[in-house]
Amino acid sequence: VLNAALAAVAAGIASAVVALGLAGVGTSLETSIVAAVITAPALFLFLTRRNLRRIAIDRAPFPDAWRRVLEDYVAYYRRLGPHDRDRFEREVRYFVLEHVITGPRGREVSEELRVLVGACAAILAFGRPGYAWNQIRDVVIHDDAFDADDYAVHSHGELLGQVGAQGPIVLSARSLRGGFLGLEGHNVGVHELAHVLDFDDGRADGVPGILPWREVDGWLRVLHDEVRKIEEHQSVLDGYGAKNEAEFFAVATETFFERPNLLREKHPELYAMLSKVYGQDPAQELLH
Ligand SMILES: [Zn+2]
Repeated sequence: VLNAALAAVAAGIASAVVALGLAGVGTSLETSIVAAVITAPALFLFLTRRNLRRIAIDRAPFPDAWRRVLEDYVAYYRRLGPHDRDRFEREVRYFVLEHVITGPRGREVSEELRVLVGACAAILAFGRPGYAWNQIRDVVIHDDAFDADDYAVHSHGELLGQVGAQGPIVLSARSLRGGFLGLEGHNVGVHELAHVLDFDDGRADGVPGILPWREVDGWLRVLHDEVRKIEEHQSVLDGYGAKNEAEFFAVATETFFERPNLLREKHPELYAMLSKVYGQDPAQELLH
């Protein structure tokens, strides 16, 4: 409702600007008024379309089969209370219904895989309720690891996941499931979606757009300290995090959600910074 009100105000201001602008360049009064009258509802609909769709999404009950997937795979979900589980389910559904998630060449993938992708998004967005992923991307899920050049799929493929400045998020189904079954603190879906957040402000530089600008200097200082610790083998983060700033952010995000207690104990500054980025405190939550 608040968003709809804001959209209405924005639409009103925009139509006034259009009217004044046209009057200013000498257009007749009638033309200015018609233009303003057309602008307001068009902008209002544009700004509220997603909100209206989400209201419709919220009305339908969350499918039992989807809930079973969350219960079977997602430890993060299992430790939430009933109210937070509702909230988590809502985030899962927004992501799954607002993105096209398929196999290669549009082949259909199981509901289980689609829900797991939604769960990765819900984990990252949980501290920012209703977070609207600015970049709506397709998600393509291969059965297994794949090669970088021709996307040939086999168990020794070079990549488990991939994402670029544009285009689809590519994942391996085996790794996506494995990430939730507790394999060495890795979660490829969370990793690739962290890259998407990083690309949100235009480029993947290890500084996500959701970080308040006044925190950027502090974050960069922590980032470079922590990369040095990886290089000196003084870090709990995977060595891949030292590859560049973007990989550092994605690897640190995985550890933040998969091993929050360890990260808070060994790298308190990094943990505190990631808490600001994601608006949540996963180690704290584990204590309750
Ligand atoms: Zn990466």
